[in-house]
Amino acid sequence: MKQWGMAVSAAVGAALAVFLWSKPWAEWTEAELLPPEQVSAPAVYRADVRIDPHAHTAAGTLSVRFVPGDGQALFHLYPNAFHESADLSGANWEHILGKQRLPGGIRITGVKVDGRPVPVRTLGKTGTILQVPLEGAAGRRTEVEMGFELRVPYNSGRLSYNDHALWLGNWLPILAVQDETGWRLDPYYPMGDPFYSGTANYHLRVTLPDGYSLATTGTESQAVVTRLRPQGQSHYEVDAWNVRDFALVVMDDSYRQTVSRVGETVVRTWWQEGDSEETVALLHDVAVRALRYYGEQFGTYPYREYDVVKTGGFFGGMEYPGIVFVQGDAFTRPSGMGAAVIAHETAHQWFYGLVGSDEVREAWVDESLADYAAMSFLEDERIAADGYIGYRMERGKVSEQYANRGLRVRQPLDRFPDWKSYSDLVYARGAAMWWKLRLEWGKERLHRVLRDYVREHQYKEAGGAELIEAFSRAVGEDAAPFFDYWLGMDLEKRDEAEAWMRSGRPFRIF
Ligand SMILES: [Zn+2]
Repeated sequence: MKQWGMAVSAAVGAALAVFLWSKPWAEWTEAELLPPEQVSAPAVYRADVRIDPHAHTAAGTLSVRFVPGDGQALFHLYPNAFHESADLSGANWEHILGKQRLPGGIRITGVKVDGRPVPVRTLGKTGTILQVPLEGAAGRRTEVEMGFELRVPYNSGRLSYNDHALWLGNWLPILAVQDETGWRLDPYYPMGDPFYSGTANYHLRVTLPDGYSLATTGTESQAVVTRLRPQGQSHYEVDAWNVRDFALVVMDDSYRQTVSRVGETVVRTWWQEGDSEETVALLHDVAVRALRYYGEQFGTYPYREYDVVKTGGFFGGMEYPGIVFVQGDAFTRPSGMGAAVIAHETAHQWFYGLVGSDEVREAWVDESLADYAAMSFLEDERIAADGYIGYRMERGKVSEQYANRGLRVRQPLDRFPDWKSYSDLVYARGAAMWWKLRLEWGKERLHRVLRDYVREHQYKEAGGAELIEAFSRAVGEDAAPFFDYWLGMDLEKRDEAEAWMRSGRPFRIF
């Protein structure tokens, strides 16, 4: 993967260089990003999937083409975290899944490498990792094919169903990331979003019974649909370019859609008959305005479609590339929280989607930026969100008490004892840090640095180090003390952090 990654970086670099030369500087600093179809992706996933919304199953074949970095491929089988033998006890799991649950899982059959059957192993207590041997394949393009049978678990989480919809998040087998520390095989923690993935192109053929609608990461509004009348089914051919995952929701005929455009992008909000029409209109308006706002601030959203979908249960919302799941009750009652959730999840299209990061070891990177961006949007667009900004700032302030317990913003997911500490530190203190910088520097200066960060790392992965580097470069002084104080909870560095922040004030630069 590394070799291929370098080739891609070089290709992107070359494309950027050409682009840079052809544009006057003033224009280049505007919010332009490369179209996802024009950037070569490190992997290509093709799947042929039959979904049975009654039986809550999805079965089919998956092929993945990529250039392996060593003699094996390791895939996450996240649905097996919900296997009947999995221990999902405790308050943290309950927070995600609720009390009513049925198990599920994914079974892999007939794995082939470049057309030849190979023996495979599953690793982990409940088989959450698939290990495929790839003898002699390192460094050359390889295809892994497999059959799969997914039984969707029932709970309030990212992969579940209710009477009207089936939502599939983190369902397809996905290549684990291989970085300089080795293979990243982190389990499905009951904390944060325990995922980390590279970009890929996806081509799915989804077969559904008639009478259902489909919303996905890809461009299903442009899907080729083939109706198979005798069988009462339809095939949907759906593509997605340069995305980190492929999520989808199957909805019955109680669902309706509200559609708008932002530039070249179709924005669709999926809701249900009987929902509050006033609330639906408000939520759709927030999705449209947020996509436009972040585009202006951080780089124009380069994908052709964005779906906001009402799902069941859930704890707020969940981001996937090109699609977000929003908990059902946000659509039935007027509440600013629904607007705040959509503002936050939409911001993840930039921070997580366009610029990927390690959500297990550095959850603060995408979460603090998404939450800050949402606060900025709600403030600038004057959207009432039930005191969201005030609440976040207040929690950010009291979060210093966690330093006594040895807890930090900058720590891996398994170090957070509960959701409250995670929320106070990663969301609130992280976002409060960016808000403080905005108050000191002004929005324009802060957003210029973030826009450059997005442009530099678009379709790639970047972490805290790259972010700190971007801010050090912008100020001309090492930003580490500032981030150590805010994220490392190194409270003695307060004065140094303040001094760095003052050095970066725009009047010192211009
Ligand atoms: Zn988030």
